[in-house]
Amino acid sequence: MIIMESKATQEQIEQVIKEIRRYGLKADVSKGAYRTVIGLVGDESTIPFTHFTDLPGVKEAIRIETPYKLLSKEYSKFYEGISERTIVEAGGIGVGGDELVFIAGPCAVESKQQLFTIAEGVKRAGAHILRGGVFKARSSVHSFQGLGAEGWEEAEEALSWLYEAGKKFEMPVVTEVRGESQVDLVAKYVDILQIGARNMYNQDLLTKVAKKNKPVLYKRHFGAGVEEFLSFAEYIAAEGNKNIILCERGIVPIGKGKQYSRYTLDLISIPVIQQETYLPVIVDPSHAAGRRELIFNMSCAAIASGASGLIIEVHYNPAEALVDGRQMITPDELKDVIDACQRIRKVVLPKRNES
Ligand code: PEP
Ligand code: MN
Repeated sequence: MIIMESKATQEQIEQVIKEIRRYGLKADVSKGAYRTVIGLVGDESTIPFTHFTDLPGVKEAIRIETPYKLLSKEYSKFYEGISERTIVEAGGIGVGGDELVFIAGPCAVESKQQLFTIAEGVKRAGAHILRGGVFKARSSVHSFQGLGAEGWEEAEEALSWLYEAGKKFEMPVVTEVRGESQVDLVAKYVDILQIGARNMYNQDLLTKVAKKNKPVLYKRHFGAGVEEFLSFAEYIAAEGNKNIILCERGIVPIGKGKQYSRYTLDLISIPVIQQETYLPVIVDPSHAAGRRELIFNMSCAAIASGASGLIIEVHYNPAEALVDGRQMITPDELKDVIDACQRIRKVVLPKRNES
């Protein structure tokens, strides 16, 4: 990372960028009101940094040792406009500030009526952002794959319902992009692009999604460590898109754990991620638990852990849902979750703002 003098000229900044490119690397330029900071994207381990400190207009060159340099806390200390805790602006809703953010909606969009009824319910319960899957990640090819699997026309129709529901109930919308071919279509209709747990490692998808310059809801793979999670999030940042909301959604349980919950919710990752990066992190208790009777407690625990919000699956009649009915709660139950979480937030917020 190259920190320019506050008086550095445009010419001097360009010379540094040229030098970075000469080494085959990309430059991540952040121009603040006070100074410009330039991140090196690529393998800079063999480049002598003294080479940069000798250039006119350069104040300092710092090597950041983590694989997630652009997203590291250290980096944010020098970047103007990036505080140690960033608020990601997602369709008018700030994620990562003092206010909790609740994302809710069906697992899968099944019909216009189903989506609109649920959207109305979650809005009334206090949700801020609407979720709904069109392209579903499913473990079995024989189960419902979402309306997106029925063809491009059906996919586009379902996406347009999400768009309309978002407008009608005044909530930004988020849906998952499961493959590269879906990115352009999905980005036309939604405010936030979701990368599912199974795609956490999909570099080509990450790069393509990042280029849309929309906020990305990025889920941790159930077998990935925190370092890997952040290292792959860096693929999004390396495209110049730092509007990333991280999401913890549970890791593979040990022993016979699967009998009791779908995954093990790794809540210690929340404060750990917040120590490592300036990005906001939310929790998905629905896919972690897999059972509705666990949602209330795990939601409270997630907020107590310092999470900036939750993403929860909701249905007016969970028994009717084609996907994940077992883990869905009703809009009334969502309201109870939100009320309890708001009370817990009041307890943890002062400590968070101290650190
Ligand atoms: C989802 O949120 O719809 C989903 C499939 O979650 P995950 O990718 O975490 O399994
Ligand atoms: Mn689901």
